[in-house]
Amino acid sequence: MKVSNKKALIIGAGPAGLTAALELLKRSDMGVTILERDAQVGGLAKTVEYKNCRYDIGPHHFITESERVTAWWQDIAEGDFFEHKRYTRIYYNRHFFNYPLEPVNVIRGLNIIECARSVFSYAWVRFFPIKEVRSFEDWVTNQFGRRLFSIFFKTYTEKVWGIPCNEISADWAAQRIKGFSLSQAIFYAFFGRFFTKNKPRTINDVFHYPARGAGTFWEKVAARIKTYPQASIVMEQAVTRIEHDHKRIISVSTHDPVAASTGGAVQLTTYEADEFLSTMPLQQLIMNLHPLPPAAVIRAAQALRYRGLITVNLIVGRLHVSADHWIYVHEKTVRMGRIGNMNNFSLKMVDDPTKHTALSLEYFTYVDEPFWFKPDHEIIELAKYELEKIGLVRASAVIGGMVLRTPEAYPVYDADYKEHLGCVLGYLQTFKNLHLMGRNGMHRYNNMDVAMLSAMDVVDRMLMQEQVSVRNVKKEQASSATL
Ligand SMILES: Cc1cc2nc3c(=O)[nH]c(=O)nc-3n(C[C@H](O)[C@H](O)[C@H](O)COP(=O)(O)OP(=O)(O)OC[C@H]3O[C@@H](n4cnc5c(N)ncnc54)[C@H](O)[C@@H]3O)c2cc1C
Repeated sequence: MKVSNKKALIIGAGPAGLTAALELLKRSDMGVTILERDAQVGGLAKTVEYKNCRYDIGPHHFITESERVTAWWQDIAEGDFFEHKRYTRIYYNRHFFNYPLEPVNVIRGLNIIECARSVFSYAWVRFFPIKEVRSFEDWVTNQFGRRLFSIFFKTYTEKVWGIPCNEISADWAAQRIKGFSLSQAIFYAFFGRFFTKNKPRTINDVFHYPARGAGTFWEKVAARIKTYPQASIVMEQAVTRIEHDHKRIISVSTHDPVAASTGGAVQLTTYEADEFLSTMPLQQLIMNLHPLPPAAVIRAAQALRYRGLITVNLIVGRLHVSADHWIYVHEKTVRMGRIGNMNNFSLKMVDDPTKHTALSLEYFTYVDEPFWFKPDHEIIELAKYELEKIGLVRASAVIGGMVLRTPEAYPVYDADYKEHLGCVLGYLQTFKNLHLMGRNGMHRYNNMDVAMLSAMDVVDRMLMQEQVSVRNVKKEQASSATL
């Protein structure tokens, strides 16, 4: 229903920002401007190119339980959306374990004594569960037993977050592994093929992927947005100042991040609007407010943390490296956390599918760690060395590589994040025309579909309010006409 001709300003052209923009354009007359600091749309879900090979920031598979999102994806993809049966393995202790776990494969990889210990520790927590579940470690131990926690969860999770599992909030496990237990894993391992319909999402094995990378989907959304005359997407403009009057946001100002980083003139452009929708990290949002919020809110925002990601995108001069979509590397002796094999998502991701394989290796790090600042060539050498060490590819088979740094890949759920987040969100609620959505925009660890749903929810609420105020104005006009 078309209800308004106001202006909306959206910060960020990632999945949430683009979804909100298209929803607003389809369902109202609002003018929509998106400001994006990057040169490419798609946010964390973009696809980058290196020597005609294509890589996501960690391969992004499309999977959702929402019919609304499914309909949206199908409308945009127009057939460029191919179904895949997920093939994932875990590398641990020089053995590849299939994921979801398969009993025979687990027994073979763990040896019979380790299996017996795992069964015993699982039985133990069934009788003596941890009563006060505070951390990720408590939560997973209760679900799987301590032994399996330390084999299949501890190392990888600590690689991702860079903090011990007993300092990670239980919320993350509940969100990430929700409703999944060992008994379920074993049940689906034996009988999964007969019960495909109600399979939990964590072990669902079918997903969709566009032929030339997840980012091409978001480029299509951007192209659709540009068909509306009242819409614009302004690239390479980072929002650095947000003016307000303590009740409403008045305007945002941007600068060109490229000009700033090269010491060029920093040009500030100011954009006014009626409604502001933000997907930028909450910490930056708070620090860019003008006037600044009270000191307690600033302290809370500064305590929110983000985990950075370095992806090492390699071209391997070999046709078949492995059949996996992903390999989760739980092995302690290597630093890498995950390997994505882009060829197995689509052969259009690689320059020459008869000769080459495009691999994307993920290294998790904080941006103030020395690893973040290592020169690219050293990181590429490390990646080659580690690939050879786990026996996947000889270092000499790697014929090219590039490094991509993503500073805010994961909003961190540490032990205190809830308290800090509550303080920040409580303060931001005072701005009636500011709407938070998406992953870093809400400091919520979510996938593309949930980021999209948060954007749809914002638009639903905005348009509902708009209809109510239009109705109220009409009522007032009618009653004054009858006076
Ligand atoms: C390694 C990895 C693998 C993942 N795999 C999957 C997967 O397989 N499937 C899945 O569904 N999801 C996956 N995700 C999650 C997915 O990437 C996110 O859920 C999704 O991108 C969130 O969308 P968003 O729009 O909220 O945020 P983002 O994608 O972060 O987009 C935010 C945008 O805002 C821009 N921005 C930030 N600050 C400013 C500013 N000051 N001014 C202007 N612009 C700004 C950013 O440049 C960015 O383009 C993965 C994430 C990671 C890190």
